[in-house]
Amino acid sequence: MFTEEAWKSQEYALSQLDADIWQLRLPLPYALDHVNVYLIEGDDGWTFVDTGLNISAARALWKTTLETLEIEPGKVKQIVLTHLHPDHFGLAGWLQDRLSTPETQVPVYISLYESQRFVRFWGNINKEAWYEGLHRFFRLSGIEEERAHSITNKSRSTGTKTRPHPTFSAIESQGTLQMGNRTWEIIHAPGHADGQMIFYDKADRLFLSGDQILMKITPNIGFWNDSERGVLQRYLDSLKELKNYEVRVGYPGHKWLVGDWQQRIEEMFVHHDERLDTTLNVVKQKTDITALEVSQAVFRLNELNPQQSSFAIAETLAHLDLLEGTKTIQREEVNGVWRYTVI
Ligand SMILES: [Zn+2]
Repeated sequence: MFTEEAWKSQEYALSQLDADIWQLRLPLPYALDHVNVYLIEGDDGWTFVDTGLNISAARALWKTTLETLEIEPGKVKQIVLTHLHPDHFGLAGWLQDRLSTPETQVPVYISLYESQRFVRFWGNINKEAWYEGLHRFFRLSGIEEERAHSITNKSRSTGTKTRPHPTFSAIESQGTLQMGNRTWEIIHAPGHADGQMIFYDKADRLFLSGDQILMKITPNIGFWNDSERGVLQRYLDSLKELKNYEVRVGYPGHKWLVGDWQQRIEEMFVHHDERLDTTLNVVKQKTDITALEVSQAVFRLNELNPQQSSFAIAETLAHLDLLEGTKTIQREEVNGVWRYTVI
């Protein structure tokens, strides 16, 4: 579970990591083809951390898992979601329906920030104005009209794999949370999702690290149409804070377990430092460059599908945004397109 080879040799499905914690690896129909969710057993019932996407292959694996571990309605204390990306919360409603009893509904906890984002996003997702905003955002990035249109249209199909939506209970991203027989410190870990919560069990030096710390891949840190400025800075600040924790092992939302916590964080700093350097060098080479042009120089954009290229652009914008924040470059809007110049 600690090395790429060991991890690859395992099928999608259930592995017991501790006496009381199981990892369930569920399939995703994307380039990143799986998500890890966790089941924690306790005297007062089970806690599930994240749920997977609502696709039949994932539902089938959940059914087998519930049978194997003899988890019936009434035995689940709570479902806790690190953040509200579809691959993490998509089956929360389905599980809540399935595992509640007529007397007690299983609570689905999310952070206050994510609950507000949920209302903003899902409350607007079917409204034309939302897509107009998204389209305008892609145009601002320098994407040509036709491609902006196709990427915007692509995003209309997102969301069907998250229904039914659960009834959420919002909590503050601070203090502690009892999951299983363990007491976990709740840590606010912004950047990838600004309301992400991750969890630390000090007694066992164990982190449930969500999408904040991943092996091999760096979490997508993107600046989107509804993002607040400074998203990459918030992520780097979070990494700095997380580096101070003493960690035996991190249980992440994707890929294999994080064995060397400090080293992995160091690698992610190096990655973003290098990416910032590359981004700045590209901006230096052309005045009034667009985010799309920067993105094309940094990524092999032509090899990416519309969803991947929108993520690449959002990542580029996050790096440009940080360079603006440090007054290294400046952005000007000219005819509905952002143009960047070195200061
Ligand atoms: Zn995520």
